[in-house]
Amino acid sequence: MNEETDVVVVGGGIAGLITARELGRAGLRVVVLEARNRLGGRVWTDRRLGRDLEMGGTWVHWVQPHVWSEITRYGLEVTRGPRPEDAYWLAGDEVRKGTLDGFMELVDPGMRRLLAETMRWIPRPDKPVSVDGLTSVDGYSVRDKLDELQLPVEEYNANEAAWVGHFNAPLEDGAFTSALRWTAATAGSWHLMHEASALFRLASGTRALVDAIVSDTHADIRTSREVRHIEHNTSGSVVTTASGDRLTARRVVLTLPQNIIGDLAVSPELCEEKRAASREKTASKGVKVWIRVRGPIKPFFAYSSAGHPLSVVRTEFLGGDDAVLVSFGADSGKISPDDIDAVSRALRVWRDDLDVLEVTGHDWMSDPYSRETWLMQRPRQLTRYLPAQQRSEGVLHFAGSDYANVWGGFIDGAIESGLRVARQVVAELAASPETSATGGIR
Ligand SMILES: Cc1cc2nc3c(=O)[nH]c(=O)nc-3n(C[C@H](O)[C@H](O)[C@H](O)COP(=O)(O)OP(=O)(O)OC[C@H]3O[C@@H](n4cnc5c(N)ncnc54)[C@H](O)[C@@H]3O)c2cc1C
Repeated sequence: MNEETDVVVVGGGIAGLITARELGRAGLRVVVLEARNRLGGRVWTDRRLGRDLEMGGTWVHWVQPHVWSEITRYGLEVTRGPRPEDAYWLAGDEVRKGTLDGFMELVDPGMRRLLAETMRWIPRPDKPVSVDGLTSVDGYSVRDKLDELQLPVEEYNANEAAWVGHFNAPLEDGAFTSALRWTAATAGSWHLMHEASALFRLASGTRALVDAIVSDTHADIRTSREVRHIEHNTSGSVVTTASGDRLTARRVVLTLPQNIIGDLAVSPELCEEKRAASREKTASKGVKVWIRVRGPIKPFFAYSSAGHPLSVVRTEFLGGDDAVLVSFGADSGKISPDDIDAVSRALRVWRDDLDVLEVTGHDWMSDPYSRETWLMQRPRQLTRYLPAQQRSEGVLHFAGSDYANVWGGFIDGAIESGLRVARQVVAELAASPETSATGGIR
């Protein structure tokens, strides 16, 4: 089948859906091609363990301007899990038990010292590569910088586990500048950064956000349409799907995550920086696990260390006779979200009194349409690649949370990038209204 349209958007995650909505509003004909049989991409509310659980992106906050604007626009509500009454952490092999406030006081000196120069290096998170000399810090991993602090073992473990929670990656792989970017987004406050990244979720799930955007768009959205090939020249592009459909468009917006965009057949090929970033992969390669335990229990949270299969766990839903915990580990190769025995063993690091009833999760690392969780860059990727990853190439444009400025890696960043790219495409097409979609490629 051969078709013609103004814009093809590749990917129906949040970035693709926002781009499509905006382009449709501008009166353009838009087709969204989504490989999966569902929309949302790395946000996915699914009914499991008796609750609506988020397999991917979850937490949002009012300091995230783009997502908060969508929440206001569609009248969505946020909620939060129960406040932890107990906290567990490790000092070497010993388990410590205390309160949330006690844990926060423990990590505070390390956090402050680690992040002291945040606003020096990222004074404008909306322009993350704007300071001369940023390359000199971009070579460090967050582990390098944590080690420099020479913290006592208990503080070290606590800080390490908190950062594993944020990075979803081994800390030696994660760029120190990624920690700075997150903290710069909250004007240097690590407390607020911590809250913004892990506390408030959409009461009706991210599904409600996806549904709201979809019902507010004129775009023609098609699922189970994997894009296999993109051919482009200066005036148009032909997009071919796995089933052989060919769509001719004046512009194409690609929203594929960093780790897979380099595998797509594009001719002429994408710039070297985009391909190199994709080959190197993001740092994040972790796992998110949902765990149903027998109740009643008191809400708690626990941090271990980077070496443990699960570094962070906390109560997210509290029932009368059960509770559902959410947990993260740095390396999906170390634990499967479906392995109840391995998950039970991992919990015993802190507690041997929990009776695990069921576990679940989605393995994003082996999912061919993501192969990453949320973007955390490796050392040097910010300064080497981000500007080129954001740059259009002829009629091809690039949206996606991985390429956002302020909250890169978050739902907010997906929206930011979608809004920006849609505006650019509208401006380009307005400046060349007569260009034919076929652009000479047939
Ligand atoms: C476990 C986990 C936890 C997270 N937690 C949070 C959180 O708490 N808060 C937060 O803000 N963010 C969180 N995130 C990150 C957030 O979910 C993502 O940054 C955001 O959803 C990415 O949106 P996107 O549109 O840029 O990319 P994606 O959602 O990845 O969209 C890309 C789309 O392209 C499709 N696609 C891929 N290949 C093709 C192809 N060849 N043809 C057609 N379509 C294709 C994919 O199926 C996908 O739908 C989390 C992510 C994960 C995985």
